Amino acid sequence: MRIIVHRDKCQGHARCWAMAPHIFELDDEGYIVAGDIDVAPDDEKDAWRGAKSCPERALDIEK
Ligand code: SF4
Repeated sequence: MRIIVHRDKCQGHARCWAMAPHIFELDDEGYIVAGDIDVAPDDEKDAWRGAKSCPERALDIEK
């Protein structure tokens, strides 16, 4: 599973990070770090919840 990060849509709400800080990395200003995220099988549930929590739809899930 992979998370496609649309950095241009991120508004810095940090909800993804609040759900799964070990998966979603934020920069110093609270925006998601650019670059897609490869998710380990054990982290898929947390990654899913984090991606779905983004109000800007900046995080797409690719299976
Ligand atoms: S929840 Fe969405 S808008 Fe907020 S930091 Fe994460 S990617 Fe950005």
